[in-house]
Amino acid sequence: MATEALQVAPEQRLESTAEVFERAPRPEPETTTLPGGPLKIVHVFWLAGMSCDGCTIAVAGATNPSVESLLAGAVPAMPKVLLHHPVLSVEAGREFVRNFELAWQGKLADPYVVVYEGSIADERIAAKTGGYWAALGVETVDGQDRPVPTAEWLERLAPGAAAVIAIGTCATWGGVPAAYGNVTGAMSLMDFLGADYRSAFGLPVINVPGCAPIGDNFMETVAAVLLFLQGLGPLPEFDELGRPAWLFGQTVHRGCGRAGYYEEGEFAAEYGDKECLVKIGCWGPVVNCNIVERGAINHMGGCMKAGGVCIGCTMPGFPDRFSPFYKMPPGANLSTMGAKFTGLFIRPLRRLTQQFQSRETRWDRTGAVPSGWGHVAEPTPPQKALHYFYERWRHWGVKGQR
Ligand code: SF4
Repeated sequence: MATEALQVAPEQRLESTAEVFERAPRPEPETTTLPGGPLKIVHVFWLAGMSCDGCTIAVAGATNPSVESLLAGAVPAMPKVLLHHPVLSVEAGREFVRNFELAWQGKLADPYVVVYEGSIADERIAAKTGGYWAALGVETVDGQDRPVPTAEWLERLAPGAAAVIAIGTCATWGGVPAAYGNVTGAMSLMDFLGADYRSAFGLPVINVPGCAPIGDNFMETVAAVLLFLQGLGPLPEFDELGRPAWLFGQTVHRGCGRAGYYEEGEFAAEYGDKECLVKIGCWGPVVNCNIVERGAINHMGGCMKAGGVCIGCTMPGFPDRFSPFYKMPPGANLSTMGAKFTGLFIRPLRRLTQQFQSRETRWDRTGAVPSGWGHVAEPTPPQKALHYFYERWRHWGVKGQR
Protein backbone atom coordinates (compact mmCIF):
# COMPACT_ATOMS: atom_id res chain seq x y z
CA MET A 1 0.00 0.00 0.00
CA ALA A 2 1.40 3.32 -1.00
CA THR A 3 1.86 5.82 1.79
CA GLU A 4 1.77 9.53 1.50
CA ALA A 5 4.37 11.68 3.07
CA LEU A 6 3.22 13.26 6.31
CA GLN A 7 2.15 16.81 5.70
CA VAL A 8 3.07 19.20 8.51
CA ALA A 9 1.93 22.80 8.66
CA PRO A 10 4.81 25.27 9.09
CA GLU A 11 3.68 26.17 12.66
CA GLN A 12 3.62 22.45 13.60
CA ARG A 13 7.02 21.62 12.23
CA LEU A 14 9.42 20.15 14.79
CA GLU A 15 12.80 21.74 15.20
CA SER A 16 15.65 19.84 13.66
CA THR A 17 18.31 18.45 15.98
CA ALA A 18 20.72 21.00 14.64
CA GLU A 19 18.36 23.85 15.45
CA VAL A 20 17.73 22.55 18.96
CA PHE A 21 21.45 22.11 19.50
CA GLU A 22 22.07 25.62 18.20
CA ARG A 23 19.48 27.15 20.52
CA ALA A 24 20.36 25.18 23.64
CA PRO A 25 22.57 26.89 26.16
CA ARG A 26 25.78 24.99 26.61
CA PRO A 27 29.07 25.59 28.40
CA GLU A 28 32.22 26.35 26.55
CA PRO A 29 34.16 23.20 25.73
CA GLU A 30 36.45 22.35 28.63
CA THR A 31 40.09 22.99 28.02
CA THR A 32 42.31 20.53 29.77
CA THR A 33 45.69 21.55 31.04
CA LEU A 34 46.95 17.99 31.38
CA PRO A 35 49.32 16.58 30.55
CA GLY A 36 51.15 19.53 29.01
CA GLY A 37 50.18 22.25 31.47
CA PRO A 38 50.74 25.93 30.75
CA LEU A 39 54.45 25.32 30.15
CA LYS A 40 55.28 23.14 27.20
CA ILE A 41 59.04 23.26 27.50
CA VAL A 42 61.53 24.06 30.23
CA HIS A 43 65.24 24.26 29.48
CA VAL A 44 67.65 22.90 32.07
CA PHE A 45 71.19 24.24 31.90
CA TRP A 46 73.60 21.95 33.73
CA LEU A 47 76.87 23.54 34.82
CA ALA A 48 79.78 21.73 36.44
CA GLY A 49 82.36 23.34 38.68
CA MET A 50 84.81 21.51 40.96
CA SER A 51 83.04 18.22 40.49
CA CYS A 52 83.74 14.53 39.95
CA ASP A 53 80.59 14.02 37.84
CA GLY A 54 79.22 11.75 40.58
CA CYS A 55 76.06 13.86 40.77
CA THR A 56 75.44 13.34 37.05
CA ILE A 57 75.89 9.60 37.46
CA ALA A 58 73.53 9.54 40.46
CA VAL A 59 70.85 11.45 38.55
CA ALA A 60 71.25 9.25 35.47
CA GLY A 61 70.22 6.33 37.71
CA ALA A 62 67.10 8.03 39.09
CA THR A 63 63.80 6.28 38.49
CA ASN A 64 61.17 8.38 40.17
CA PRO A 65 60.84 10.12 37.76
CA SER A 66 63.68 9.17 35.46
CA VAL A 67 65.64 11.72 33.46
CA GLU A 68 64.66 10.07 30.20
CA SER A 69 60.94 10.26 30.99
CA LEU A 70 61.22 14.02 31.59
CA LEU A 71 63.25 14.45 28.42
CA ALA A 72 60.60 12.56 26.47
CA GLY A 73 57.81 14.62 28.02
CA ALA A 74 56.27 11.37 29.23
CA VAL A 75 55.40 12.43 32.79
CA PRO A 76 51.82 13.69 33.09
CA ALA A 77 51.49 17.36 34.03
CA MET A 78 55.20 17.97 33.49
CA PRO A 79 56.60 20.13 30.75
CA LYS A 80 59.07 18.54 28.41
CA VAL A 81 62.61 19.14 29.63
CA LEU A 82 65.35 20.19 27.24
CA LEU A 83 68.56 19.28 29.02
CA HIS A 84 71.76 21.10 28.08
CA HIS A 85 74.39 18.96 29.77
CA PRO A 86 78.11 19.05 28.95
CA VAL A 87 78.36 15.25 29.09
CA LEU A 88 74.92 14.01 28.09
CA SER A 89 73.98 16.42 25.28
CA VAL A 90 74.53 15.33 21.72
CA GLU A 91 75.49 18.83 20.54
CA ALA A 92 79.06 19.96 20.95
CA GLY A 93 81.15 23.09 20.52
CA ARG A 94 79.45 26.31 19.36
CA GLU A 95 76.16 24.54 18.79
CA PHE A 96 76.06 23.41 22.41
CA VAL A 97 76.99 26.79 23.90
CA ARG A 98 74.52 28.67 21.68
CA ASN A 99 71.54 27.95 23.96
CA PHE A 100 73.47 29.14 27.00
CA GLU A 101 74.09 32.42 25.18
CA LEU A 102 70.44 32.75 24.16
CA ALA A 103 69.36 32.21 27.76
CA TRP A 104 71.83 34.83 28.98
CA GLN A 105 70.57 37.29 26.37
CA GLY A 106 66.95 36.60 27.34
CA LYS A 107 66.19 35.27 23.85
CA LEU A 108 64.94 31.81 24.79
CA ALA A 109 61.24 31.37 24.13
CA ASP A 110 60.80 29.16 27.20
CA PRO A 111 61.81 29.44 30.86
CA TYR A 112 64.93 27.76 32.14
CA VAL A 113 66.32 26.22 35.30
CA VAL A 114 70.02 26.19 36.19
CA VAL A 115 71.52 23.13 37.87
CA TYR A 116 75.05 23.41 39.23
CA GLU A 117 77.18 20.40 40.13
CA GLY A 118 80.45 20.80 42.04
CA SER A 119 81.72 23.72 44.06
CA ILE A 120 82.65 27.11 42.68
CA ALA A 121 86.34 27.87 42.76
CA ASP A 122 87.67 31.39 43.01
CA GLU A 123 88.59 31.98 39.37
CA ARG A 124 90.63 35.06 40.32
CA ILE A 125 93.23 32.72 41.82
CA ALA A 126 93.57 30.74 38.58
CA ALA A 127 93.49 33.88 36.45
CA LYS A 128 96.70 35.10 38.11
CA THR A 129 98.58 32.43 36.21
CA GLY A 130 96.45 32.69 33.08
CA GLY A 131 94.47 29.54 33.85
CA TYR A 132 91.00 28.58 34.99
CA TRP A 133 89.50 26.00 37.33
CA ALA A 134 86.30 24.99 35.55
CA ALA A 135 85.00 26.32 32.24
CA LEU A 136 82.40 25.67 29.58
CA GLY A 137 82.77 26.93 26.02
CA VAL A 138 85.11 29.50 24.54
CA GLU A 139 84.47 33.10 23.56
CA THR A 140 86.59 35.59 21.72
CA VAL A 141 87.51 38.77 23.53
CA ASP A 142 89.72 41.35 21.80
CA GLY A 143 90.65 38.75 19.22
CA GLN A 144 91.67 36.28 21.92
CA ASP A 145 89.82 33.06 22.68
CA ARG A 146 89.10 32.54 26.35
CA PRO A 147 87.41 29.64 28.14
CA VAL A 148 84.34 30.87 30.02
CA PRO A 149 84.40 29.76 33.67
CA THR A 150 81.23 28.00 34.75
CA ALA A 151 81.12 30.41 37.70
CA GLU A 152 80.73 33.18 35.13
CA TRP A 153 77.96 31.27 33.38
CA LEU A 154 76.22 30.94 36.72
CA GLU A 155 76.50 34.67 37.31
CA ARG A 156 75.04 35.31 33.84
CA LEU A 157 72.20 32.81 34.00
CA ALA A 158 71.12 32.93 37.65
CA PRO A 159 69.15 36.22 37.53
CA GLY A 160 66.91 35.07 34.66
CA ALA A 161 66.49 31.47 35.83
CA ALA A 162 63.13 30.22 37.05
CA ALA A 163 65.11 28.33 39.71
CA VAL A 164 68.74 27.59 40.55
CA ILE A 165 69.35 24.13 41.99
CA ALA A 166 72.61 23.12 43.64
CA ILE A 167 73.10 19.38 43.36
CA GLY A 168 75.49 17.46 45.57
CA THR A 169 77.42 18.52 48.65
CA CYS A 170 80.13 20.39 46.70
CA ALA A 171 77.52 22.70 45.17
CA THR A 172 75.35 22.93 48.27
CA TRP A 173 77.99 23.43 50.97
CA GLY A 174 81.42 23.48 49.27
CA GLY A 175 82.13 19.81 50.01
CA VAL A 176 85.50 18.18 49.55
CA PRO A 177 87.04 20.96 47.38
CA ALA A 178 86.25 23.46 50.15
CA ALA A 179 87.65 21.26 52.93
CA TYR A 180 90.58 22.26 55.11
CA GLY A 181 93.40 23.50 52.91
CA ASN A 182 91.10 24.73 50.11
CA VAL A 183 93.69 26.10 47.71
CA THR A 184 91.11 26.98 45.06
CA GLY A 185 88.91 29.12 47.31
CA ALA A 186 86.07 26.68 46.54
CA MET A 187 82.63 27.59 47.86
CA SER A 188 78.98 26.68 47.58
CA LEU A 189 76.30 28.32 45.41
CA MET A 190 74.77 29.93 48.49
CA ASP A 191 78.14 31.46 49.35
CA PHE A 192 78.72 32.58 45.77
CA LEU A 193 75.30 34.08 45.02
CA GLY A 194 74.67 35.41 48.54
CA ALA A 195 71.66 35.52 50.83
CA ASP A 196 69.86 38.13 48.72
CA TYR A 197 69.82 36.05 45.56
CA ARG A 198 66.37 35.29 44.19
CA SER A 199 65.55 33.60 40.90
CA ALA A 200 63.22 35.19 38.36
CA PHE A 201 60.40 33.31 40.13
CA GLY A 202 61.52 34.58 43.53
CA LEU A 203 63.30 31.46 44.80
CA PRO A 204 66.59 31.39 46.72
CA VAL A 205 69.05 28.63 45.81
CA ILE A 206 67.56 25.14 46.23
CA ASN A 207 69.97 22.66 47.80
CA VAL A 208 69.94 18.89 47.25
CA PRO A 209 73.04 17.67 49.13
CA GLY A 210 74.79 14.31 49.19
CA CYS A 211 78.11 12.92 48.04
CA ALA A 212 76.87 11.54 45.77
CA PRO A 213 73.29 12.72 46.22
CA ILE A 214 70.41 10.30 45.85
CA GLY A 215 69.35 10.70 42.23
CA ASP A 216 65.67 10.33 43.14
CA ASN A 217 65.95 13.07 45.78
CA PHE A 218 67.07 15.42 43.04
CA MET A 219 64.53 14.29 40.45
CA GLU A 220 61.68 14.45 42.95
CA THR A 221 62.71 18.00 43.86
CA VAL A 222 62.89 18.97 40.19
CA ALA A 223 59.46 17.44 39.61
CA ALA A 224 58.01 19.36 42.58
CA VAL A 225 59.51 22.63 41.33
CA LEU A 226 58.23 22.00 37.80
CA LEU A 227 54.73 21.35 39.15
CA PHE A 228 54.98 24.66 40.99
CA LEU A 229 56.14 26.45 37.83
CA GLN A 230 53.24 24.84 36.00
CA GLY A 231 50.87 26.35 38.52
CA LEU A 232 49.69 22.85 39.37
CA GLY A 233 51.28 22.49 42.79
CA PRO A 234 52.23 24.58 45.79
CA LEU A 235 55.74 25.79 46.33
CA PRO A 236 57.46 22.74 47.81
CA GLU A 237 58.52 23.12 51.42
CA PHE A 238 62.19 23.93 51.88
CA ASP A 239 63.99 24.24 55.20
CA GLU A 240 66.07 27.22 56.30
CA LEU A 241 69.06 25.86 54.35
CA GLY A 242 67.07 25.44 51.16
CA ARG A 243 66.82 21.64 51.41
CA PRO A 244 63.57 19.89 50.43
CA ALA A 245 62.12 19.62 53.93
CA TRP A 246 60.25 16.40 53.28
CA LEU A 247 63.47 14.66 52.26
CA PHE A 248 65.96 16.02 54.78
CA GLY A 249 63.80 16.67 57.83
CA GLN A 250 64.83 13.51 59.69
CA THR A 251 68.09 11.94 60.73
CA VAL A 252 69.45 8.83 59.05
CA HIS A 253 69.26 7.07 62.42
CA ARG A 254 65.47 7.40 62.64
CA GLY A 255 65.00 5.44 59.43
CA CYS A 256 67.89 3.03 59.85
CA GLY A 257 67.23 -0.68 59.85
CA ARG A 258 69.90 -1.08 62.54
CA ALA A 259 68.27 1.39 64.96
CA GLY A 260 66.63 -1.49 66.84
CA TYR A 261 70.09 -2.80 67.72
CA TYR A 262 71.10 0.65 68.93
CA GLU A 263 68.05 0.82 71.14
CA GLU A 264 68.80 -2.60 72.66
CA GLY A 265 72.45 -1.72 73.15
CA GLU A 266 73.97 -4.11 70.62
CA PHE A 267 76.84 -2.72 68.58
CA ALA A 268 78.98 -3.98 65.73
CA ALA A 269 82.64 -4.54 66.57
CA GLU A 270 83.74 -4.72 62.94
CA TYR A 271 82.48 -4.36 59.38
CA GLY A 272 80.24 -7.19 58.33
CA ASP A 273 78.52 -7.40 61.73
CA LYS A 274 74.75 -6.99 61.60
CA GLU A 275 74.36 -4.68 64.61
CA CYS A 276 74.40 -0.89 64.86
CA LEU A 277 77.58 0.64 63.43
CA VAL A 278 77.96 3.62 65.75
CA LYS A 279 80.98 2.24 67.57
CA ILE A 280 82.89 1.93 64.33
CA GLY A 281 82.17 5.49 63.29
CA CYS A 282 78.53 5.98 62.25
CA TRP A 283 77.29 9.59 62.53
CA GLY A 284 73.70 8.67 61.61
CA PRO A 285 72.03 9.98 64.79
CA VAL A 286 72.94 13.59 63.90
CA VAL A 287 72.87 13.56 60.10
CA ASN A 288 69.92 14.76 58.02
CA CYS A 289 69.49 12.26 55.21
CA ASN A 290 66.99 9.71 53.89
CA ILE A 291 69.41 7.24 52.30
CA VAL A 292 68.25 4.19 54.25
CA GLU A 293 64.59 4.80 53.53
CA ARG A 294 65.03 5.65 49.87
CA GLY A 295 68.06 3.58 48.93
CA ALA A 296 70.75 4.69 46.51
CA ILE A 297 69.12 3.67 43.23
CA ASN A 298 65.63 2.34 42.67
CA HIS A 299 65.17 1.74 46.41
CA MET A 300 68.22 -0.53 46.49
CA GLY A 301 71.40 -0.06 48.51
CA GLY A 302 72.23 2.85 50.78
CA CYS A 303 75.11 3.25 53.23
CA MET A 304 73.98 1.32 56.32
CA LYS A 305 72.04 -1.21 54.27
CA ALA A 306 75.25 -1.99 52.43
CA GLY A 307 77.23 -2.24 55.68
CA GLY A 308 78.87 1.19 55.62
CA VAL A 309 78.82 3.85 58.33
CA CYS A 310 77.33 7.31 57.84
CA ILE A 311 80.15 9.85 57.40
CA GLY A 312 77.79 12.84 57.22
CA CYS A 313 78.17 13.50 53.50
CA THR A 314 74.90 15.46 53.24
CA MET A 315 75.84 17.94 55.97
CA PRO A 316 77.21 21.48 55.66
CA GLY A 317 80.11 20.52 57.97
CA PHE A 318 81.22 17.66 55.71
CA PRO A 319 84.02 16.57 55.51
CA ASP A 320 85.98 18.56 58.13
CA ARG A 321 83.51 18.17 60.98
CA PHE A 322 83.09 14.43 60.48
CA SER A 323 86.73 13.43 60.15
CA PRO A 324 88.62 11.36 61.04
CA PHE A 325 86.17 8.96 59.43
CA TYR A 326 85.56 5.48 60.84
CA LYS A 327 86.17 6.57 64.44
CA MET A 328 83.34 6.58 66.97
CA PRO A 329 81.80 10.06 67.38
CA PRO A 330 82.67 11.17 70.95
CA GLY A 331 78.99 11.84 71.83
CA ALA A 332 78.16 8.23 71.08
CA ASN A 333 80.06 7.17 74.22
CA LEU A 334 77.29 8.53 76.39
CA SER A 335 74.28 7.36 74.41
CA THR A 336 75.64 3.87 73.78
CA MET A 337 76.39 3.49 77.49
CA GLY A 338 72.76 4.30 78.27
CA ALA A 339 71.50 1.95 75.56
CA LYS A 340 73.75 -0.86 76.81
CA PHE A 341 72.44 -0.45 80.32
CA THR A 342 68.73 -0.45 79.41
CA GLY A 343 69.38 -3.19 76.84
CA LEU A 344 70.54 -5.49 79.64
CA PHE A 345 66.98 -5.51 81.01
CA ILE A 346 64.95 -4.94 77.88
CA ARG A 347 66.45 -7.68 75.73
CA PRO A 348 65.67 -10.67 78.00
CA LEU A 349 62.16 -9.37 78.67
CA ARG A 350 61.48 -8.96 74.98
CA ARG A 351 62.81 -12.44 74.25
CA LEU A 352 60.45 -13.83 76.83
CA THR A 353 57.44 -12.08 75.33
CA GLN A 354 58.55 -13.04 71.84
CA GLN A 355 58.71 -16.69 72.88
CA PHE A 356 55.16 -16.46 74.27
CA GLN A 357 53.78 -14.70 71.19
CA SER A 358 55.31 -17.36 68.95
CA ARG A 359 52.92 -20.04 70.23
CA GLU A 360 49.44 -21.03 69.12
CA THR A 361 47.03 -21.05 72.07
CA ARG A 362 46.20 -24.66 71.09
CA TRP A 363 49.82 -25.65 71.83
CA ASP A 364 49.38 -24.36 75.37
CA ARG A 365 46.34 -26.59 75.77
CA THR A 366 47.99 -29.69 74.27
CA GLY A 367 51.30 -28.99 75.98
CA ALA A 368 53.40 -29.67 72.84
CA VAL A 369 54.40 -28.06 69.54
CA PRO A 370 53.80 -30.54 66.69
CA SER A 371 56.78 -29.40 64.61
CA GLY A 372 58.71 -31.77 62.40
CA TRP A 373 61.51 -29.23 62.09
CA GLY A 374 62.87 -29.45 65.57
CA HIS A 375 62.07 -29.64 69.25
CA VAL A 376 60.40 -26.54 70.69
CA ALA A 377 60.94 -26.26 74.41
CA GLU A 378 57.89 -25.82 76.60
CA PRO A 379 57.81 -22.80 78.92
CA THR A 380 59.16 -23.53 82.37
CA PRO A 381 56.85 -23.04 85.41
CA PRO A 382 58.42 -19.65 86.30
CA GLN A 383 57.99 -18.50 82.66
CA LYS A 384 54.37 -19.67 82.72
CA ALA A 385 53.81 -17.68 85.90
CA LEU A 386 55.34 -14.58 84.31
CA HIS A 387 53.17 -14.99 81.21
CA TYR A 388 50.12 -15.34 83.41
CA PHE A 389 50.74 -12.02 85.10
CA TYR A 390 51.74 -10.40 81.79
CA GLU A 391 48.41 -11.51 80.30
CA ARG A 392 46.50 -10.11 83.29
CA TRP A 393 48.34 -6.83 82.86
CA ARG A 394 47.71 -6.78 79.11
CA HIS A 395 43.95 -6.99 79.63
CA TRP A 396 43.89 -4.70 82.64
CA GLY A 397 41.11 -2.12 82.33
CA VAL A 398 39.74 -3.54 79.06
CA LYS A 399 36.07 -4.33 79.42
CA GLY A 400 34.53 -7.33 77.72
CA GLN A 401 37.82 -9.18 77.23
CA ARG A 402 39.30 -11.78 79.40
FE1 SF4 B 1 71.98 4.85 63.73
FE2 SF4 B 1 74.20 4.45 62.29
FE3 SF4 B 1 73.46 2.66 64.09
FE4 SF4 B 1 72.04 3.00 61.84
S1 SF4 B 1 74.12 2.21 62.01
S2 SF4 B 1 71.25 2.73 63.92
S3 SF4 B 1 72.25 5.20 61.55
S4 SF4 B 1 74.06 4.78 64.51
